[in-house]
Amino acid sequence: MTSLPTAALPSALPAAPRVGERLGRYTVERVETLPEMQGTLVLLSHELGARHAHVIREDDNAAFSVTFPTVPKDSTGVAHILEHIVLMGSQRYPVPDPFFAMLPRSLNTFMNAMTSNDWTTYPFSTRNEQDFFNLLSVYLDATFFPLMRYESFRQDGHRFEFQTPEDPTTALKLQGVVYNEMKGGMANPGSVMWRAFGKALYPDLTYANNSGGAPENIPELTYENLRAFHAAHYHPSNAFFYTYGKLPLERILDAIEAHVMAQFAAQVLDVSIPDQTPFAAPRSERAAYPGTDTERGAQVSVLWKLGLSSDADANLRWSVLSDVLLGNPAAPLTRPLIESGLGAGLADLSGYRDSFREGAFAVGLKGLGAGQVQAVETLVLDTLRAVAEGGIDPELIESSLHQFEIGQKEVSNAGYPFALQVMFRMLGPWLYGGDPLTGLRLDAELDRLRADLNAGRVFEPMIERDLLNNPHRVTLELAPDPELAARTEADEQALIDRLSAGFTDEDRARIVAESLRLKELQAQEHPLDTLPTLSLSDVPPSVLRLPYRTEQAGAALVARIPQPTGGLSYLDVQVRLPDVPDDLLDALPLYAFAVTRGGAAGQDYAALARRMEAVTGGVSASVSSGVHPDDLNALRLSLSFSGKALARNAPALTGVIRDLLAAPEFTRDRLEQLLRQRLAGLKASVVQSGNAYAERLAGAQVSPAGALGERFGGLSALNTLKGIVEGRAVEGQSGGISGLDDLIARFGRIRDLILTGTPVLALTATEPDLTLDLSGVTSLFTGSAPVGRPAPATAPRTPQARTTDSPVAFNAVAFQTVPYTHPDSPALLVLSRLLRSNYLLKEIREKGGAYGGAASFDNREGVFAMSSYRDPNVARTYRVFRDARAFLDTPLGQRELTEAILGASKVLDPLTSPDTAGRMRFYSDQAGYTPDVQEAYKTRLLAVTLDDLRRVMDTWLTPDRAAYAVVTGRDPNDDSLKELGLTFDVQGV
Ligand SMILES: [Zn+2]
Repeated sequence: MTSLPTAALPSALPAAPRVGERLGRYTVERVETLPEMQGTLVLLSHELGARHAHVIREDDNAAFSVTFPTVPKDSTGVAHILEHIVLMGSQRYPVPDPFFAMLPRSLNTFMNAMTSNDWTTYPFSTRNEQDFFNLLSVYLDATFFPLMRYESFRQDGHRFEFQTPEDPTTALKLQGVVYNEMKGGMANPGSVMWRAFGKALYPDLTYANNSGGAPENIPELTYENLRAFHAAHYHPSNAFFYTYGKLPLERILDAIEAHVMAQFAAQVLDVSIPDQTPFAAPRSERAAYPGTDTERGAQVSVLWKLGLSSDADANLRWSVLSDVLLGNPAAPLTRPLIESGLGAGLADLSGYRDSFREGAFAVGLKGLGAGQVQAVETLVLDTLRAVAEGGIDPELIESSLHQFEIGQKEVSNAGYPFALQVMFRMLGPWLYGGDPLTGLRLDAELDRLRADLNAGRVFEPMIERDLLNNPHRVTLELAPDPELAARTEADEQALIDRLSAGFTDEDRARIVAESLRLKELQAQEHPLDTLPTLSLSDVPPSVLRLPYRTEQAGAALVARIPQPTGGLSYLDVQVRLPDVPDDLLDALPLYAFAVTRGGAAGQDYAALARRMEAVTGGVSASVSSGVHPDDLNALRLSLSFSGKALARNAPALTGVIRDLLAAPEFTRDRLEQLLRQRLAGLKASVVQSGNAYAERLAGAQVSPAGALGERFGGLSALNTLKGIVEGRAVEGQSGGISGLDDLIARFGRIRDLILTGTPVLALTATEPDLTLDLSGVTSLFTGSAPVGRPAPATAPRTPQARTTDSPVAFNAVAFQTVPYTHPDSPALLVLSRLLRSNYLLKEIREKGGAYGGAASFDNREGVFAMSSYRDPNVARTYRVFRDARAFLDTPLGQRELTEAILGASKVLDPLTSPDTAGRMRFYSDQAGYTPDVQEAYKTRLLAVTLDDLRRVMDTWLTPDRAAYAVVTGRDPNDDSLKELGLTFDVQGV
């Protein structure tokens, strides 16, 4: 398939079909309007049993997904491994990795595949019509006609391999992408909690299995079972198709019919999930994760099984009740739990969960020591009893319903593209046999709830019946086990010994041969001409120029930005800070974290939290550094407040932000709670995002902006916080902050400093709502101090290792390069895409067995980085990083270059939505990244050559300019690292 220059998506919205209409072998079963999002839902069924939901909506971004209910009967990870394998070559696209190969050949705004506990979905979105049909073809072929090669199964599933693959006298190892991915996953308390949750509450059902794959069970999966699982689940009769946007429905259905439906006959497949047999009495369960923090590393959560999650009324009521009980720090269940001082924060997965066929409610605490099970259980039950007996304040219910209204109205591409958020909202009720419309439109259910609330108590009896008097309850403890990592390793060895006990020389020879065959296949070049692609002419040459008007109000610059926000108003207050004394820098990110969670203007934290819940959709604060487009040493620090509200509440939102700016209040007790919560959150994120931490640690050694980033959000920030919380801060550590009183004193100075800063405000709303009076905020600022210029400084350039509870490593290397307007910047951006798709993925993921390998270029901060994710190797990966230059001398052609430029252009045209498009434009303009500057960048980008890539690499990414960092489970220093000339400075996290 070749590509022609294509236009953007059509401008007119197509009309919806009529109920009963036949479109080929599809029948239109329902057509429903979606007034909140101004769209139309069309539900169709196909003769083969496939279901199709199509949403017609004015949005430049179009989306597709196909979802299959998948119900594994064991923990071999069959559903997850299958998800990997179907993306590794199909009949029409017999290349090894069509999915990864498409990433750079497309202008997609989202491409992924996900395995949940009882479904697997393959979604994408794009703003280009040709791209939509290209990706549709690749996705349909992958899911319905995958090759499922034996070698793919070995590469991404599991395989035996000798330590030295060609030498059968060396040690046998278990390898595989999913195998390593899950080894990493099972080290993460959040993942262990999720698995234990399903197993505890639904022990008889598919949820008792680890759908991702338990490392000890993955080797039991056979190639035949994998193929059988595909045949039993990936069939039109078991498929849920979803499409969204302005493309003509018939054209999409025709494509699906011709490609898929015409090749299949109807089939009866049983993927139903029965009811879980109710428990006669409450139970207790325990799960462990590898960890050493026995003082604060445990969680205890109380779980209940509820009714069918496809019941729309119950689903709405539980969602509201969950928000009433837990939605903010002042909520009647959250507050007593946190103020008990038992734990640092709510347990993972607290709240209502509809991601099981029968729903669940959970609540508990984390950050606990050992032996707290009974105390937490008693506290939870007593608190619920008190709430049920004392009654819930109707104002709290109103506040939660108000949050619901915001959720229904908001159209945002934050997180997932909105085009796919719609799918995820529908998916639960749809797959479980409920009404998919209820995920998108709840007016009837809301009316019934309002009527029942007027007639009497609704939620208190639910607490009594479904929680307090429900014997289907489990108290689940998740605790760290310092010996577990070693035991898991020993178990793995025992498993290898057992599985290989009967191996003959022939078997060993076969393993060597298969390893060599896999290597050979991985080394082969595959012509990708079968895959569809876009060309550089598909890249829009211009950038969005959106209208806004500005005015000066005293010291403040105010922009008013008209956007179709669906009746919401967004207010941003960015304060450019004056020179910040060094002794306040480490306190700044803590200030940003605490200021919206404490009290203000005479209201304590609980009163303020209730006020925010009642009139806003949330207010957050953050600290950031900006870099001038011409000069990497010209930095600027800002503290920003952002909030949203229904337009009718916009004046109240302004009042909240004013109080947070002018009169924040911090008490010792509340601050201690908050810092402990933050510490627990940061600690948990280390094994989840080790690559980001390693990149920051490396970047800090070469880039002034990177050094600030490390101080604000890296492992240094974690260390500072730890010192304060654990009260062992000494001079020179923890930013010199000696404790809570000291921190509160510094917060006072930060507040004063902010008010001498230079405010830049952005109000985003529909035109009639733009007249909002902002003087309450703008009048706070005296404008007495000029915008500060932080002195550029970097950390000493020494390879840094940080050890934590992780069986896998996260490796990173970083280089300081050039500012945004430097002519080499676009080539560096293209280079990052080229190395990622064509080199690192292959070397680190396919050959090295890591879950991921990436290169990135921050074109504002000028930092170029390479990293690996959940990586079994350290030295090998640093050799791969170092050999990147040699890769550029291998035969590379126009195709690789074009793909890398297409990929880079996506970075320049991020997907925006009414809530973000205008303010991104305004703040970029203010920082010097104007449309002219951005378009000049794009022009250069489209002209980048392969020689440019080699030249910028020789100039900027040389070994003497490199900075290294790794987050890993143990001291990485060994001989093979020494051979590379690397000696890491090792510290515990
Ligand atoms: Zn995976």
